Amino acid sequence: MSVYDKYETVIGLECHIQLLTKTKMYSNDVAEYGALPNTNVSVVTLGMPGTLPVVNKRAIEFAVKLGIAVNANIREENQFARKNYFYADLPKGYQITQDKTPICNGGYIMAKLKDGSDFKVNLTRIHMEEDAGKSLHDIDPFETFVDLNRAGTPLLEIVTEPDFRSGEQAYAYLTEVRKLVRYLDICDGNMEEGSLRCDANISVMLKGSKVFGKKVEVKNMNSFRNVQRAIDFEIKRQIDLIEAGELIAGETRSFNADDGSTFALRSKENANDYRYFPEPDLQPILITQIYINEVKNNMPTLPNELFKLYTQDYKLNEYDATQLIDLKEVAAYYNNLIKHTSNYKGAANWVMGTIKSYLNERALTISEFNFEPKKIAEIIKLIDDGKISNSAAQHLFLELINQPTKTAQQLAQDLDLIQNSDSTALQELVTQALSKFPEKVTEYKNGKIGLLGMFVGEAMKLSKGKADPKILNQLVKEELEK
Ligand code: ADP
Ligand code: MG
Repeated sequence: MSVYDKYETVIGLECHIQLLTKTKMYSNDVAEYGALPNTNVSVVTLGMPGTLPVVNKRAIEFAVKLGIAVNANIREENQFARKNYFYADLPKGYQITQDKTPICNGGYIMAKLKDGSDFKVNLTRIHMEEDAGKSLHDIDPFETFVDLNRAGTPLLEIVTEPDFRSGEQAYAYLTEVRKLVRYLDICDGNMEEGSLRCDANISVMLKGSKVFGKKVEVKNMNSFRNVQRAIDFEIKRQIDLIEAGELIAGETRSFNADDGSTFALRSKENANDYRYFPEPDLQPILITQIYINEVKNNMPTLPNELFKLYTQDYKLNEYDATQLIDLKEVAAYYNNLIKHTSNYKGAANWVMGTIKSYLNERALTISEFNFEPKKIAEIIKLIDDGKISNSAAQHLFLELINQPTKTAQQLAQDLDLIQNSDSTALQELVTQALSKFPEKVTEYKNGKIGLLGMFVGEAMKLSKGKADPKILNQLVKEELEK
């Protein structure tokens, strides 16, 4: 047993998601990514004297949506608070956030590990706040520039209970969060662009201990993979320190993606005193049950509901269901497809097989694929009715994309892909095929049954590849066993 096995890791995550609202959290400045620096910054965002913030209704709707999706308690009376600190990218000198009255408390998210097992992550709270601007250190070798376009954009912060026990679990949870916010259409979930950010709180303790160790907070990971790497590094670093008889310092650390290490940013012992107080310029917001119900009635189908539907009603296996649900747009295509066919498994195979490879080869997303799902259903029906073979179906698919005005049936006929399943005609071919090889027939009858494939192949050749292989196989067998 290695020393590392003596310890258990405890992790809690704090995620910020940037909301897809048109305007900012407390002003009507446009909230968009990639605009020219400092072009979307009004006096309200700057907190100039005499200006007043106004809460963005859409941001509240998004918070309520998320709260419903994770089964949280949604607060009726919401206050805002000022969190005071000085920093170059925070021109107001304070951030308007929620302190004692987060919009959501409790709730949970179910996540899935690679081995297919589920685990539950309890949420502590979700609160609304605004983002700060951005300091740019990599544009000039000597100066730091400040872009305030991001200042004031709406964020939700999702804080979990210390429920994770490994970096792999943290990774799986983040995958779930991203999927959820994309299904809800409240955030694009793009960690590389910073619209989904995550800080990890990590501590270690001896296995079986009831008391958590001192936690360290790690920031600045820009991918799920890096969150996992940072956690794995921290676990080892902390255990090594404890084993060497040292104490863990309560501190905030940053992640270095180049070598996967973390380094100290600031100590928590002399942490900022943010001097929170109720935001005097904003009235509390009341969220009524009527409003919550309204939002509830307009909720999209969520990934976990789809999973249940696909596995229980459509009898797909868990792997297929997970793959289909992974991207909302793929699931939407599948949902449209199965309006036209009840061969759910066949439809899943088409979406994740032929269609997916077609798109991959052309570097297209499924949103850019405007081939009617109904046509795929027609192809599936032709296969299921034994009218075309699987390989003919692949060919038909590619041809149909170029001839969208034809139905699958028409085009299959035009291309002469309809296979022959008329059994008298087939019987004829079988007799012909066998008569070519009288000695082989005798060998077969004497027990060399491996020859069956050869006879079927011959008959198939005579049919010019259009015979239904299943029927043909059956007929050859019957003929040989006469
Ligand atoms: P702080 O006041 O330092 O921000 P919080 O109590 O707000 O700390 O917790 C922040 C995050 O840290 C939460 O996700 C929580 O679950 C997690 N956390 C709390 N204690 C521990 C611990 N001992 N080890 C790991 N994570 C922890
Ligand atoms: Mg905190």
